[in-house]
Amino acid sequence: MNLRPRLVLLGKQGAGKGTQAVRLAAQYDIAHLSTGDLFRAQGKLGTEFGLKAKQYMDNGDLVPDEIVMGVIEECLAPGGTLAEGFVLDGFPRTRAQAEALEIVLDGRPIDIVIHLDVPRAIVVERLSERRVCVKNSGHIYSFSKPPADGHTCDKCGGEVVQREDDTPEAINRRLDTYERDTRPIREFYGSNDRPLVTIDGLGETDEVFARCCDAIDAVL
Ligand code: ADP
Repeated sequence: MNLRPRLVLLGKQGAGKGTQAVRLAAQYDIAHLSTGDLFRAQGKLGTEFGLKAKQYMDNGDLVPDEIVMGVIEECLAPGGTLAEGFVLDGFPRTRAQAEALEIVLDGRPIDIVIHLDVPRAIVVERLSERRVCVKNSGHIYSFSKPPADGHTCDKCGGEVVQREDDTPEAINRRLDTYERDTRPIREFYGSNDRPLVTIDGLGETDEVFARCCDAIDAVL
């Protein structure tokens, strides 16, 4: 039995992948990889890779597959940070990435792919209101539920800001990209006996978390 599962979270921007991934990583003692966080951190550090990725991200476009795979392959290789159990949040995001992931995993299959299902109108609302902690992207607030002093994270003291790609234009662009490039992954994982489960992403985060755990425990 595999007690440290290999998980993939799929779903639109704003579906709650980041929030659930942080909790799932703690619950199952597995590593959490958010490609968005990784790329943003590299952008802040000003590495060659980070600066290249930032150009795409600020426009709400996907970072090209070959750039993404270069980073991921290192993490997933034996001895890398994701060699044991993991939860992938924001990756794969294209069919080419999903196919490349299988090759990199080389006989260590994903245990379950969870699709967090939330209607577009709701995620547009959530993203427009979203405010995030710059120190820990799992610490999420909103325009209507800000931190106690309005701008400092209650949990870790980081600055709470609106993400540069949470403007109305970039949000719509990212969601269109999701429909075109990411939605087809669901068919990829839903076929050939790959373990795809769709979970209702509406409701309190505790409720959604309980649904995710039930689905994971059922396959472990
Ligand atoms: P969101 O899911 O709300 O777009 P993320 O933090 O997951 O937020 O990603 C932010 C941006 O990072 C994306 O819009 C995209 O430009 C880039 N990105 C993240 N993951 C990938 C990926 N797997 N492939 C290509 N681009 C990615």
